[in-house]
Amino acid sequence: MSDIEVKGLCKSFGAVQALRGIDLTIRAGSVLALLGPSGCGKTTLLRLIAGFDVPDDGEIRFARQVMASPARFVPPERRGIGYVPQEGTLFPHLTAAGNIRFGLPRGAARDQRIREVLALTSLDGLGSRYPDELSGGQQQRVALARALAPKPRLVLLDEPFNALDLDLRRSICEEVVGVLRGTGTTAVLVTHDPGEAFAAADEIAVMQDGHIMQCDRPETVYWQPANPAVARLTGSALFLPGQFRHQGVECCLGALCLPQGMRTPSAGPATVMVRPEQVRWSPSGPGVATRVTQRSFRGSHTLVELDLGGTRLNLRMPSLSAPATQCAGFVTVTGCCMAYPADNMPHESMARPAGETAVAGVDEMEL
Ligand code: ATP
Repeated sequence: MSDIEVKGLCKSFGAVQALRGIDLTIRAGSVLALLGPSGCGKTTLLRLIAGFDVPDDGEIRFARQVMASPARFVPPERRGIGYVPQEGTLFPHLTAAGNIRFGLPRGAARDQRIREVLALTSLDGLGSRYPDELSGGQQQRVALARALAPKPRLVLLDEPFNALDLDLRRSICEEVVGVLRGTGTTAVLVTHDPGEAFAAADEIAVMQDGHIMQCDRPETVYWQPANPAVARLTGSALFLPGQFRHQGVECCLGALCLPQGMRTPSAGPATVMVRPEQVRWSPSGPGVATRVTQRSFRGSHTLVELDLGGTRLNLRMPSLSAPATQCAGFVTVTGCCMAYPADNMPHESMARPAGETAVAGVDEMEL
């Protein structure tokens, strides 16, 4: 099976432009995550790939065959896709096996295939149970088994683990991705959880406002986000005012390096992005001198506010080693940072000079 290609895809609902020219290639056999905030167009893109909606413009090809274009539209049942929607979509009056049987053509091989996909999704022995006799995680595995049963060339998963609690969500996600990889199935996973995207995907397409801002390997999207919005959507980030210098950048954390080959201005104002875990505090130098101005115990970690010569930063530190308030120390940065021309970033999103009321800089989404 070759790649899935999307070119110039547009879709509007009345005045709402849900997709504004999407270009995307999904490599055969890979898992791609569509990551982005609510309303950015993830489900719309998935539904157009599935054939549940017709694009206004642009083209979708599966293995070079046109599935949707201004001139042609292939209906969903002829696209060879499996769809795993959000929870609650099993037929309640059918058993797990009955749900899986639903999408399979009649024939002698049907029961054999049901047994195979039940085993593949670790549901052996549960085929005769009804959905309300299964846990949420087991129900989602039945939904996956149903999608995989006809051996689709592409599986589309639309936030399939949303209803599960966080721990179960992560483990079911790992299991599901294990099954997809084991069968070499190409898959697209819609999620707004960066952790899930990192754990599951070979590539992540980060979306906002109907655009794909960046599509790349998880490590690249995390360490070299294309812009501040991608940095925020993929994890905690410190944003600091700085200045571009030849092949680097300078800010309150010192002179920092940029990724090799990154094209940036050689001078001028910059917004520096550092992941909080890159910043190391130590009671002795070298590094930039700091003082702890506040701390807030959060269980396994403590949120520590540091004053760096007038700029304040919030960092998470392991509670067992977090310094006390007023403690003096030094900070260093491990690895390269990212920097963007300063006009990319609203001033209020950055770390602030001491004396101003708010102390910003760390996205506290994981706290
Ligand atoms: P979520 O994570 O909340 O599911 P999403 O990223 O999947 O969001 P979409 O469901 O694709 O976003 O919606 C993109 C935009 O298109 C939103 O502004 C939404 O309100 C709008 N939209 C989607 N479907 C329709 C529809 N059938 N009619 C009108 N507007 C729609």
